[in-house]
Amino acid sequence: MIRKNLAMLNETIAEICEKCGRDAGEVRLVAVTKTHPEKTIMEAYAEGLRDFGENKVQELVPKMSALPDDIEWHMVGTIQTNKIKDLAGRVNWIHSISKAKYLKELEKRLARVDRVVRVLIQVNISGEDQKSGCEPEQLSEILQYAAGLKHVTVDGLMGMAALTADRDQIREQFRMLRRLRDEHREYEAGNIRLDELSMGMSGDYDIAIEEGATMIRPGTSIFGSRDYNV
Ligand SMILES: *Cc1c(COP(=O)(O)O)cnc(C)c1O
Repeated sequence: MIRKNLAMLNETIAEICEKCGRDAGEVRLVAVTKTHPEKTIMEAYAEGLRDFGENKVQELVPKMSALPDDIEWHMVGTIQTNKIKDLAGRVNWIHSISKAKYLKELEKRLARVDRVVRVLIQVNISGEDQKSGCEPEQLSEILQYAAGLKHVTVDGLMGMAALTADRDQIREQFRMLRRLRDEHREYEAGNIRLDELSMGMSGDYDIAIEEGATMIRPGTSIFGSRDYNV
């Protein structure tokens, strides 16, 4: 099933890129594997995938230590200060940084293990859930804070569109993320680059690609529906 789903997904990605004049190589596929066992992840690995995302530290950490070293691991879920130390030793990307205090803790933990992690700042573009992502007005302050760090690079922004069937509304929210990125390019220097836009899940990755996503995060369209909703 994974092979077939991936073939279909890659075909769709190629079609959308073709239609909007983008190179499919610009869109990194981060397969979100939450709730799925290591065996399932290894099936996707066998198909050539190397970027996997999880939304819970306690699920991500054992998977990171059990699975092959050449996987790039992406933390895409809500961050808590007390869990950051568990991530620092292995994770490659964190998409969900929403406060300077998380950067501070991350810098401290990464300095101890002498590693650099690439982060994206998550912005609340749906206006729905106050807990996921910073408000657009907070972005410059977070970027200014990040500019002083030695073990963190800020590579772009992440956003989740509202859970709605209104595709125009979703498009508007992705557009907002891109606009915010463009407006904050002035902060680019040293460890700050804003090239990445992580947006789009199984239901809306097509719109995200059209609006400039460089990373999409599908789960269901590769692995099928999850047994329970998390
Ligand atoms: C679960 C999740 C995804 C994948 O969602 P699907 O609808 O299964 O594609 C992507 N991003 C985040 C942050 C998630 O938590």
